[in-house]
Amino acid sequence: MCGTCGCSGGSEGGTGTRIAVPHAHPHDGDHENGHGHEHENGHEHSHLREHAGPHRGHARPVAIRGAAGGGETITLEQRVLAKNEDLAARNRSWLAEQGIVAVNMMSSPGAGKTTVLERTIRDFAGQRPVAVIEGDQETMLDADRIKRAGSTVVQVNTGAGCHLDAEMMRDALITLAPVSGSLVLVENVGNLVCPALFDLGERSRVVIISVTEGTDKPLKYPYMFAAADLVIINKIDLLPYVDFDVTRCEEYARSVNPGLRSLAVSATTGEGMGDWYDWVAGQY
Ligand code: MG
Repeated sequence: MCGTCGCSGGSEGGTGTRIAVPHAHPHDGDHENGHGHEHENGHEHSHLREHAGPHRGHARPVAIRGAAGGGETITLEQRVLAKNEDLAARNRSWLAEQGIVAVNMMSSPGAGKTTVLERTIRDFAGQRPVAVIEGDQETMLDADRIKRAGSTVVQVNTGAGCHLDAEMMRDALITLAPVSGSLVLVENVGNLVCPALFDLGERSRVVIISVTEGTDKPLKYPYMFAAADLVIINKIDLLPYVDFDVTRCEEYARSVNPGLRSLAVSATTGEGMGDWYDWVAGQY
C-alpha cells in the first residue's frame, strides 16, 4: 500500500477518476464519468456488471490513531487490498471465461510503454484483436496515440491517483467490451511503486525499463520487479550513447525475482520485438 503518498484503492474516493474513450469513437461522449452507464451491447459483460453493486463502497487506505494517547492504530490498508483482491479475482475469472489475455504493463514515465503498445498493435493487425486500457493521471494523449495505431482503447484518468486498481479495470473492461480471444494491454500509470501493489485481475505483469534509466532500477524498486512476470529492456537502439549495462540490469532483476524472464527490444526500430510477440503468444 502506498501509505506515504496516500493513494487509495478506490476509484470513487475523491481522486477524480474518469473513464473515457477518444473522440470519434462510436461511444463518443458517453463515458465522461465512467460509472454506472449502460452498454447496449454489454450483455456479454453481465458477469462483470452483476457483481458491481456490492463493491461500490470503499475503505480508504488510512490509519486511524487512538486519540487518547493509547497508540492504537487500526490500519485499513488490508481491507482495501482485500477488496481489490476480490474484484481482481472476478476480473480474472471473467477474462478467463472469455479467453482474453490481459497484460499489465508498468514502468517509469517515459520508458516507452505507449510506443511498445503502438508497435505491437500495428504488428498484430489482422492476426490478433488488441484492445488497450490507458492509465494516466490526466489527458487523452496516449489514448489518442493508441487509437491512431488502430486499436480500440479506453482512457482511465486517475486524477491524483498513481495506479490503476481492479475496480477501474472492471469499469474499463465494461466500456471497452473486448471480443473473445483479445489481447488486452493495460498501460498502467507511470511509476515503479504503487502499480506493483494492486492486482487488476491480469494474466501477467510486465515491467518495462529503458536504457536511458539506471542499470540499478531493479535494486531500487524491488517490489515492482518481484511482482513481474517479464522485464522488457527498451530503447536498446540508444545503447551506444548511454551508460547502461543490459546484462547487469538483468542480473539485478533476477536477484529480486529469480527466474524472471527478460527481453531487450527497441520499440522504435523493431529490434527484439519478435521475442515479445512470442512471449505474448505463450500467454494463451
Ligand atoms: Mg504512455
